[in-house]
Amino acid sequence: MSAIDGYRQVLDAIAAAEKEARRAAGEVHLVAVSKTFGAEEIRPVLTAGQTLFGENRVQEAEDKWPALKEAFPETVLHLIGPLQSNKTKNAVALFDAIESVDRPKIARAIAKEAEKQGRMPDVFLQINTGEEPQKAGTLPGEADAFIAEARDVLNLPVKGLMCIPPVDEPPAPHFMLLAKIAARNGLTGLSMGMSADFETAIRFGATHIRVGSAIFGARPKPA
Ligand SMILES: *Cc1c(COP(=O)(O)O)cnc(C)c1O
Repeated sequence: MSAIDGYRQVLDAIAAAEKEARRAAGEVHLVAVSKTFGAEEIRPVLTAGQTLFGENRVQEAEDKWPALKEAFPETVLHLIGPLQSNKTKNAVALFDAIESVDRPKIARAIAKEAEKQGRMPDVFLQINTGEEPQKAGTLPGEADAFIAEARDVLNLPVKGLMCIPPVDEPPAPHFMLLAKIAARNGLTGLSMGMSADFETAIRFGATHIRVGSAIFGARPKPA
């Protein structure tokens, strides 16, 4: 199956899920996750009209996207993977949004760098809804304080929250928790749902779904 077939199927599934959830058509933004795939695989999806893409590594995105963005100037790029402090400068320069702002230290680094560059990407704050020790994100109990610091102290353009539920649990309770934290803080953006569970995420209010393998096919296993 080519990426175009996968892409069309995902668009159809999003439209059906929006309808079933009685949400407006086109309300859910598809972030096409192109990590590990090369320009030749990404290009047909760009040609088909997709503008919003997600990458999880700064360096990989820097290698791939400048040339593609030149050919497709409407492209919007989101960083969805963990950000190291020493990559903040490059991330602020390249990405239109950083969805993986997972701790106050990184929020502060982004604010500082954005001021320096005069360029401010949108921000989503990552919440570790499953409280998994190995996973990035602020714990639910610390979320309100984190949101307050990022939005009200650092003045970051916080568009919403992001989560990656534990792989071995039903995702719905995690989507509900993320939506609840966002609502009580007056945030409207919810980046949640991947290839396996984006329809569920749409039912629970996702505004951004991050879909990779359902579009581009299986990724090579990391070595
Ligand atoms: C890779 C990745 C995705 C996409 O995963 P698929 O299962 O391929 O859709 C979504 N979100 C994040 C943070 C990722 O790293």
